[in-house]
Amino acid sequence: MPKKNNLNPKSVKNKTANQRKEPKIKAVPEPKKEKKSNESAKFKYALLRGMHDVLPREQKYWQPMLAQAQRLAEDFQFKKIDTPIMEEVSLFIRSIGKGTDIIDKEMYIFEDKEKYSSKICLRPEMTASVVRAYIQHGLWNQPQPVKLWYSGPMFRHDRPQAGRFRQFNQIGFETLGDGDPATDAELILIAYNFFHELGLPVEIHINSIGNLEEREKYIVALVEYYRAKRSYLCDDCRKRINKNPLRLLDCKQSQCRPIKEESPQIIDWLSTESRSHFMKVLEYLDELEIPYTLRHSLVRGLDYYSRTVFEIYPTADLGDQAPDSGVQLSKQDALGGGGRYDLLAEQMGGRPTMAGGFSLGLERAAFYYKACCEKEITKLPKREIHAFLAQLGDQAKRRSLKIINQLRASGLVIDFNLTKNSLKGQLDIANSLHVPYALILGQKEVQDSTIIIRDMESGVQEIVDQKKLSTVMLKKVQINVDQTKKK
Ligand code: AMP
Repeated sequence: MPKKNNLNPKSVKNKTANQRKEPKIKAVPEPKKEKKSNESAKFKYALLRGMHDVLPREQKYWQPMLAQAQRLAEDFQFKKIDTPIMEEVSLFIRSIGKGTDIIDKEMYIFEDKEKYSSKICLRPEMTASVVRAYIQHGLWNQPQPVKLWYSGPMFRHDRPQAGRFRQFNQIGFETLGDGDPATDAELILIAYNFFHELGLPVEIHINSIGNLEEREKYIVALVEYYRAKRSYLCDDCRKRINKNPLRLLDCKQSQCRPIKEESPQIIDWLSTESRSHFMKVLEYLDELEIPYTLRHSLVRGLDYYSRTVFEIYPTADLGDQAPDSGVQLSKQDALGGGGRYDLLAEQMGGRPTMAGGFSLGLERAAFYYKACCEKEITKLPKREIHAFLAQLGDQAKRRSLKIINQLRASGLVIDFNLTKNSLKGQLDIANSLHVPYALILGQKEVQDSTIIIRDMESGVQEIVDQKKLSTVMLKKVQINVDQTKKK
């Protein structure tokens, strides 16, 4: 097209303005820049405080974690459970207990339009919901134990800070209807394997907080000890003495640390049964060679725990972290935690049911995963791509999706890029993906119903019938068709 005919109204206007010798300031701004600044000026929406997006670039850490949870659930025979994000507030007040930060400060509570008799909330955790479902749907009638796992978002109106969000994701495993120490060990093994098998170094911190009676006696001794040291404590701890004495052991303030270290240890208040239960759990962990630390100050603030409590901590040295995911992780930040809750089902109106479980925070786990990949402590699992399909010309492009779909259905993983039209551009991508084969489909191949298979290493090419492509490719990548179908 001749350039002089390609005038648009704006350039005509400009020309007129120039001819009139108007000051430069009136010149029409560069359209590109104007569009950009207008867009950002117009855009008014941003994430709510404490919320976050998991962008595609972060998903490569999330997907293997979710796959790992799924695999562990299958191996240890846990069945998936999904419960609603909203529940009655009283469910959590009853189970987690007043005096805890979750209940006193962090619940998202609101009234439903239908004016429910009780207020509703966004779930801050899922154990109480799982136990509610277990009672409500008569799962206690099934052969025990009932082993359930879940994955989903939780909500806590926490003060946003490194490693703390207001909406965050957890996966969790719960075993209901079994009081054996082997159950505690199995749960700890799953939590440990989750990280260990992804190449993430972790250790378990573990303690026993006994049963209700033992704990009550211990709390009396703890309060007495702390009252005598009251003047040396931080403001929060002074309040905790009356409000939630066990939380005194969670304090991380330096002024309280020496007092905490000298405090009475709950292990000395345990009955013979509780002590023996705990010793058996530790024997299992020794047998399984799971690294653990006994931490007498570990009490897990929630009311529903009894006997074994544990948390999982990162042990890799991450040095200075410069994350762009908004999560920073120190060795003091737990990746997850759990324990026994033998009284919870009964407290909620169900039958007495021995139970235990744990949950892992996926934001912190994803951050740890990413940091460990960057430090080459671990690697992301490789997605094996069997071939790259390159197309040339309109007809080939049209046919290629059908061929890709057929190959995919036979179990092959095929990459492609339909926006690139040059063969070179597409083969460059194939090279960068290190695929063993490229499948090349041009005009001629479409007409002959054939396709070229190119061995990317040797450069040797062969032409095969499109109908035989799946069979030939499966043979080449040595996939057992039956096995693929079974999966
Ligand atoms: P908890 O039962 O409160 O100990 O939570 C179990 C795990 O969930 C923690 O170890 C964290 O990994 C994760 N978690 C808890 N609260 C938050 C939060 N506000 N933001 C991100 N992750 C959290």
